[in-house]
Amino acid sequence: RADPPPAEDISADDIFIAVKTTKKFHQSRLNLLLDTWISRNVQQTYIFTDGEDEELKKKIGAHAINTNCSAAHSRQALSCKMAVEYDKFIESRKKWFCHVDDDNYVNVRTLVKHLSQYPHTQDMYIGKPSLDRPIEATERLGDNKMKPVNFWFATGGAGFCVSRGLALKMSPWASGGHFMNTAEKIRLPDDCTIGYIIESVLAVPLTRSNLFHSHLENLQQVSRSEIHKQITLSYGMFENKSNIINLKGAFPVEEDPSRFKSVHCLLYPDTPWCPPQVAF
Ligand code: UDP
Ligand code: MN
Repeated sequence: RADPPPAEDISADDIFIAVKTTKKFHQSRLNLLLDTWISRNVQQTYIFTDGEDEELKKKIGAHAINTNCSAAHSRQALSCKMAVEYDKFIESRKKWFCHVDDDNYVNVRTLVKHLSQYPHTQDMYIGKPSLDRPIEATERLGDNKMKPVNFWFATGGAGFCVSRGLALKMSPWASGGHFMNTAEKIRLPDDCTIGYIIESVLAVPLTRSNLFHSHLENLQQVSRSEIHKQITLSYGMFENKSNIINLKGAFPVEEDPSRFKSVHCLLYPDTPWCPPQVAF
């Protein structure tokens, strides 16, 4: 099926891509992203971390943002980072906010094409739900009152995007210190809190896309011929087994366990470190 005509002629420069990471993953995860997809998209990518790293600053300068959030894997620490991502996006004046984890590959060309279908002034929340039903949460109101709430949310580990039009409406619950307070009200992780603000508070529905992928799904199901159509990919563990996309590419699994280097050579074959294309 052909893509619908673009609603808006956007370029990669109109997108703010926030990558969430933590100091202990700078070597093991972030460098792989910097060598692959980020190398082609430095101008639109911002790294949100929790510690100083001179090497990282040398590579991307002000695009490395130390959130000063705690390096713990706690709900509070992760919400603290999301809050900074949101505030920096608003400051940036770009048209689209996209969040990814440091184990995501972003195919920016496809992302641009996909977002072009929608005007950025419209209320858009795009991603992949992590559950097959809405999450059931309890909102803590004042004076010990509780209210059950159900809403869909896009899983942060697959990446998701929010239009500027919608992001501006989120401001009373998301800007400055408000995001942390909102997260505490429902006591759920950062990506659920985004879903809560958008779906439950603002009543804007999540637009589902199967082009975003986390390692909570079986990544073997993404086939080689479909890779260039995907917006995000991931790698990691799923049901105690290594979960990577199945791609016989430029590098063997031993040299490229995430498959991201091979994906990068498939999408950008003119990359200097990619072997000549005839090899695969
Ligand atoms: N992360 C973080 N602080 C931590 C641990 C993880 O900011 O203490 C980030 C990590 O860099 C990644 C995301 O949170 O972007 C998800 O972490 P991970 O992939 O390890 O866990 P998952 O939730 O996918 O199992
Ligand atoms: Mn992960």
